[in-house]
Amino acid sequence: MLLIGQKISVLGAGIGGLTVATALAHRGAQVTIYEQASEIKEVGAGIQISPNGFAVLRALGMGDALRSIARRGRRVELLDFRRGGPVFSLDLDVNGDGFPYYFVHRADLIYLLEEAARAAGVEIILGQRVEAVDVSSATPRLKLDDGTEISCDVLLGADGLHSKVRAALNGEAPPRFTGQVAWRAIVPSAENSRNETTVKVYMGPGCHFVCYPLRDGSMTNIVAVQERDLWADEGWNHADNPDNLRTAFAGFRPEVQALLAKIEDTQLWGLFRHPVAPIWHKNNAAILGDAAHPTLPFLAQGAVMALEDAWVLADAMIMAETADQAFALYQNTRFSRVSRIIEAASQNARNYHLRPGPFRTLAHGALKLGSHIAPQ
Ligand code: FAD
Repeated sequence: MLLIGQKISVLGAGIGGLTVATALAHRGAQVTIYEQASEIKEVGAGIQISPNGFAVLRALGMGDALRSIARRGRRVELLDFRRGGPVFSLDLDVNGDGFPYYFVHRADLIYLLEEAARAAGVEIILGQRVEAVDVSSATPRLKLDDGTEISCDVLLGADGLHSKVRAALNGEAPPRFTGQVAWRAIVPSAENSRNETTVKVYMGPGCHFVCYPLRDGSMTNIVAVQERDLWADEGWNHADNPDNLRTAFAGFRPEVQALLAKIEDTQLWGLFRHPVAPIWHKNNAAILGDAAHPTLPFLAQGAVMALEDAWVLADAMIMAETADQAFALYQNTRFSRVSRIIEAASQNARNYHLRPGPFRTLAHGALKLGSHIAPQ
């Protein structure tokens, strides 16, 4: 009932915003997304979609399309950085074809989500940066950077790490530097590894190196994490000299060196820990995805949590009489799950850098990995 005749405004056309808009449009809502970028595009990087995230995409009719653009992941291997021997491995296929694990190029995923949103009748307004958000009355208001003011019946903040909607609901909470930075890059795969279906994590002292195949296996996604004392800024797009990455991982296995040698461009970013926002909704406004609970990348669950949020939020909105009832149901359903996952991701940050020995073996036996997360 709640959705009929209401104008729902979503801030942000990222993974969370496009998905919630599509889920709501499928349930009969009229949805408009405001996005600051002048075109919908993504950084060149890979993303892992575990079965719980795939379940949402399949329920929204995107299962076959995702299969056609993604690489099926079959295994996770944690390897010693120097010897290459397995420290721990996990079968990602254990639950069969109904629960597949995928490696996807972020740009491919975002285009798929955009196409699905437009096909469902969602209006996407690009090039509209929101400067200010006011949730002090039952009619949330957005102020755009050209001065235009927009009143919303319902506002959903899917505006990511530096969310203005989260700040309007909770005030500013400064993030804490984790003492880790990460490089990411995509390189052509070696001819003899085009059939690769494993995500490999090479663990060294104070650093680790992750690689997995993308698209038809012709590309390899790289994420390399190093401990550091200082970092200035948080963000995805700080270009760095690839030689810095090569130097940091010079002691790693020859197959890692072969990948590093191919890197022409790389981005470096600082990893920050943000608290889960205590308040997710008020006065017909709510937040989802990174806006509500930014997640470190060590469990590959940030985007997947945004997908789950979108589904639960859309369902709550169809069941409840008022937006605030729906949002309370949504926060109650989601809060402890995302808090547990964020904690597990933070523990993995430490586990990946343990030195060889019995403690490392024990810790990895208990490692939390994406495929352990059951679809809801
Ligand atoms: P975002 O994707 O950040 O989207 C927010 C959108 O809002 C953007 O389009 C932005 O332009 C727009 N916006 C922001 N502010 C404004 C404004 N003021 N006005 C208008 N528009 C605005 N997760 C996984 O599940 N699996 C993985 O393998 C994985 N790997 C990762 C690897 C790395 C290196 C990183 C950094 C993250 C990874 N994640 C992964 C996490 C995942 O990328 C994020 O959790 C996910 O993108 C969050 O989606 P979102 O829609 O909440 O926010």
